[in-house]
Parts: sequence; C-alpha cells; structure tokens
Amino acid sequence: MSLKNEYLSSLMQRVIERNQGEKEFHQAVREVLESLEPVVEKHPEYIRRGVLECIIEPERIIKFRVPWVDDNGYIRVNRGFRVQFSSSIGPYKGGLRFHPSVYEGIIKFLGFEQIFKNSLTGLPIGGGKGGSDFDPKGKSDMEVMRFCQSFMSELAKHIGSYTDIPAGDIGVGSREIGYLFGQYKRVTNTFTGVLTGKSIEYGGSLARKEATGYGLCYFTEAMLRDNGNTFSDKTVVISGSGNVAIYAAEKATQLGGKVVALSDSEGYIYHKNGIDLRTVKIIKEINRQRLIEYIKVHPDAEYHDNCKDIWSIKCDIALPCATENELDENDAKMLIKNGCIAVAEGANMPSTPEAIQLFLDNNILFGPAKAANAGGVATSALEMSQNAIRHTWGFATVDARLKEIMESIYRKSSAAAEKYGMKGNLVAGANIAGFLKVANAMMEQGVV
Ligand code: NDP
Repeated sequence: MSLKNEYLSSLMQRVIERNQGEKEFHQAVREVLESLEPVVEKHPEYIRRGVLECIIEPERIIKFRVPWVDDNGYIRVNRGFRVQFSSSIGPYKGGLRFHPSVYEGIIKFLGFEQIFKNSLTGLPIGGGKGGSDFDPKGKSDMEVMRFCQSFMSELAKHIGSYTDIPAGDIGVGSREIGYLFGQYKRVTNTFTGVLTGKSIEYGGSLARKEATGYGLCYFTEAMLRDNGNTFSDKTVVISGSGNVAIYAAEKATQLGGKVVALSDSEGYIYHKNGIDLRTVKIIKEINRQRLIEYIKVHPDAEYHDNCKDIWSIKCDIALPCATENELDENDAKMLIKNGCIAVAEGANMPSTPEAIQLFLDNNILFGPAKAANAGGVATSALEMSQNAIRHTWGFATVDARLKEIMESIYRKSSAAAEKYGMKGNLVAGANIAGFLKVANAMMEQGVV
C-alpha cells in the first residue's frame, strides 16, 4: 500500500533518506503513517504542530562500546544501544535485546513501536528500547555476567526509575536482568526499580514472566469472543519457544486450546496430541538446550529442520512469538488455505506487510503486535508501581489487572478502527488509538 496523503508520503521519504539502510525502522514507520492517513485528514493540526515530524525522530540515541573479557582471557568488544524515543506520556520504557542481528535500525523499529504500545496500555510509560549485538548463546554464565556488567557500567549513566526503565527481550531473561541490576546498584549506590522483569526475591512482580504470553491470549480471546468464538477446542500453532511462546502456550491450553507446535531458530516440533509444556520448560528454561531434545522425551512427536515450515501445519489459531518478519506472504497463504481463523502477534512485527494485507483481505481476525503483546510492558509498569510503593501484589491481583488491560486494549483498538472507517482493522485501530494519546500530550507540552 502506498501513502496517498502528500505530506505523509514526503515524511516517509524523509525517514528513508535520513535513516538509510534501516529497513525494519522504515517498515514500522510506514505502517503507522498508513494508518494515520484518515486521522491527519480530519485533524490537520497534527501536521501544523509538527507532531508527526517529532514522533518519528528519537528524543535521544545512546550508542556505546561494550568491552568484556571471555573465559580464555581475550578481550571482546560489542556494541550497546539505547534509543530513548518518546517521553511524552511517561519515562522511557522498553526492553533490551541481546542478539547478533541487533543494530541501530532494529532498536529504532522496536523503540518506535513501543511508543504506541505503551500508550495503548493506558499506563504512564513512554517509549524506548535498547540492546547489543552480543549473543548470550554458547557463553558461560560468567561471560554473560562480565558482559552485562560492562554494558550496565555505561547504560547506568542514562537510565533511572523516573527517567528510563529497561526490561528484557530476546536474549535477556531473568539471569541477564539480575546481572544488570546488580551492576546498576553497585555503580549508583541505589536500590530502585530501575529494571523490570526482576526476580521476585529482589523486587520483581508476580506474573511478569507469564505476562506477554498470557496477555496475548487474553487479547486473542477478547477478539474471538467479539466475533462469536473462543479458544475452546481450537488447534493452535505457536512459533518460538522462548518467554513469550511458552506462556502463550500455557494460557492457550488453559483456555481450552490444543497447542500442537513450537519452534526455535533451527527447527520446529509437531506433537499431534498436544505439546507437553513441562518438557519444553525443562529444555528451554532450565537446561537452555535446543528444541530437538523434545523428541527424545516424546518419541511420538516429530522434529523438522526448517523453523519456517511451522506455518504449513493446519491450525485454527496462529500465534507468531519468535521474531520480526518470520511470517511472510506464502506462510499467510498457507494458513488461510488450511482454514486458520485468527492470527495474533506475540513477537514484535512478526508478519510482513504483505502477509498482514492477506489476513485483512481474507477476513482473518488479526491482532497486531502493538496491541496483542502489550501485556509484558503493562505488567512491567505494574512492577514499577509495586516498587514505588515498596509493596508486592499477589499473582491473582496482577493477572486480573493484566486481563483487564488486554481487554481494554482490544476495545480501544476496535473502537478507533470503527471511528475512522476501518471496522475490524485492528492494525489501523491500534496505531490510531496509541497515537492519539501521545500526540495530544505532545501538543499540550509545547515544542520540546
Ligand atoms: P526469547 O529470547 O525468550 O525467545 C525467542 C525465541 O524465538 C527463541 O525460542 C528463539 O530460538 C526463537 N527464534 C528466534 N529467531 C527465530 C526464527 N527466525 N524462527 C523461529 N524461532 C526463532 O525472546 P522472547 O520470547 O522474550 O521474545 C520473542 C518476541 O516477543 C520478540 O519479538 C520480542 O521482541 C517480543 N516481545 C517480548 C516481550 C517479553 O516480555 N519478553 C514483550 C513484548 C514483545 P533460539 O533459541 O533458537 O534463538
């Protein structure tokens, strides 16, 4: 789809020229600008007041060297990033990703998406994201610790519980958060809620670990119910086998669905009778092994080498929970042909624009990442609240709040889509609802 509005089209051109080679960032901005066409036509003040020009430019980008010593005594050097994109409605908030594919464009795309996602939660959090091209895979615990300490020695200068509160993302789980928190405490001599996703022992929130996956299913259930359906008795395929995928599988099962497949970056498992999550948790969360180990425990399951082929499995509901652009046009065609009725994104931007268009054209219920995976950051904000009042809430309290937030995100996105003449298009609805709150806050705060 091309941008019809002349102003938005020239803005997109400018984004491409000024952020050369950052294709994931271009893709994320284009999708938002496309959704905003009817909004700027109705409200030209957003153009007059330069809101869009400001929102596509990060408030600050921090880029730094991360030297660390490996187990053989060699010095290794990685790159660290933190993009502080928007603080219009609250302090910067967004995860840290440690993966070899990380470069500035990936962090900018994730930070940009985060602005709208955080706004949709209804909680006072701005947008940010960070990370490094460091790969924790194959590193010893001590190497990961030394890397995290070096990374935080620099990052600590730029974050704070009222400034910028990072969390986890791909490659950053509770082990990494622990090392990062320890170093922050050491260099600043403060014990504050500066990171979320912490362990319960030192200020974490119950239900944070489960939140993105559970939230994804709460959102999906709300979307299904609004269209006369539920998870009950549905066959579910989920890509990935990390934090988001595991807890999406857990909640989908609790809601009556049967999860038959999961993947990692090397392959996928198909278990016709339903995946045994206890085995997956032992393999991935405790032993940090590859998913292929699953068939040693369950010889009646199948393992296939190409992770992308997971979308060829017949299912009613597909939940992409691995990484960006993992589900393309051909995968979408296969899902549609096999009778899939709903797709909801646990990962950030997992579907290509062509795949999304196919879902929309074929009336497949489609929950975009910004809305569907906002449960993680929403619960992180609840962790911040608990830290600020020096108190902890029970699992049921946090989980109930998460469910309420996800259902409200569904309603907001659905209502915005309808109001701007795109009923049922939650991509547009989520972008519009997320944008309006931030845009209005920006206008009220003046040119800053
Ligand atoms: P994890 O690091 O816990 O897990 C990522 C999983 O995806 C791993 O199983 C990994 O396999 C797999 N994977 C990576 N690349 C591919 C690929 N090309 N094909 C198939 N599988 C792949 O990360 P999370 O679960 O935390 O994050 C997953 C996604 O969810 C990301 O897009 C993240 O930005 C998003 N997200 C995460 C949130 C959170 O709270 N954690 C919140 C909101 C969004 P392998 O082990 O082989 O690398």
